[in-house]
Amino acid sequence: MPMNILNPYAQTSFANNNCRGQWLRGNLHTHTTFSDGTRPRQEVIDDYARRGYGFLMLSDHDILTAEPDYAALDPRGMVLIPGNEISANGPHLLHVNARTRVDPRPLRQAVINDAVADRGFVIVNHPNWQEKFDHCPLARMSEWIGYLGLEIYNGVISRLHGSAYALDKWDMLLSAGRRLWGFANDDSHAPFDVEIGWNVAFVTDHSPDAILDALVAGRFYASTGVTISDIRVQDDTITVRAENAQRIVALQQVGKRFATADGPELRVTIPPDAAYVRFECWGQGEQFAWTQPFLIEKT
Ligand SMILES: [Zn+2]
Ligand SMILES: [Zn+2]
Repeated sequence: MPMNILNPYAQTSFANNNCRGQWLRGNLHTHTTFSDGTRPRQEVIDDYARRGYGFLMLSDHDILTAEPDYAALDPRGMVLIPGNEISANGPHLLHVNARTRVDPRPLRQAVINDAVADRGFVIVNHPNWQEKFDHCPLARMSEWIGYLGLEIYNGVISRLHGSAYALDKWDMLLSAGRRLWGFANDDSHAPFDVEIGWNVAFVTDHSPDAILDALVAGRFYASTGVTISDIRVQDDTITVRAENAQRIVALQQVGKRFATADGPELRVTIPPDAAYVRFECWGQGEQFAWTQPFLIEKT
């Protein structure tokens, strides 16, 4: 059946060896002593920079950690993105590229609208946190519009109630026709939360705008340890390669696995009934990498 594969990596080195740019690793969810983190801002920045991160967003609860524009801080060569975790009165929302503090009112759709009007974007945080794995119920995520994606992995939840993963809600939303990107973030509050979940984005230059453009366009993958080295789309096939993957799995709606390879490469033909496909690369222990979804248009 003729189809059009919407490849989020079309403008990266995965699709085109001549593509100018680089893959940069970053974390968008970080707490400091500005809210309930244990370390001051500069100490947290130093820690991420030492580990080779390219970008970082400090995201304290209901406060602009960046104010005024991170001016007092040394970025240690990283790009610092201004942010805020909108927390009071409802499910937590990450306000990325926050220029102003959005009032955290219970009507979360209005909060999302304000954040977008502020030239930022919104990520739904740790949807499966808490005793009922339901910090952010699917019904609310289905109802809201205008947010960019969700945390499919949130590091700090791996030591709290509920699940650090939200692949179930992601697949249900994607299956309902939503185009949402999957993010992995540390949500670090203490040193031992650092470097457990990150995003690797293809950026054309080392600037906040280039990083934000890449995230908005889905030119990134989420990871807890596996590195994706290539993704090729050709006709109705997709090939994914990750050197440190022990298994690569291909999924379609509603989270149905349709192909698996035990090794660093998987090549699949898109099933005729697929509305989207996405890939999980499983490494050693609890290491994963997740591609963004490839939406399939029937032509
Ligand atoms: Zn939170
Ligand atoms: Zn947080």
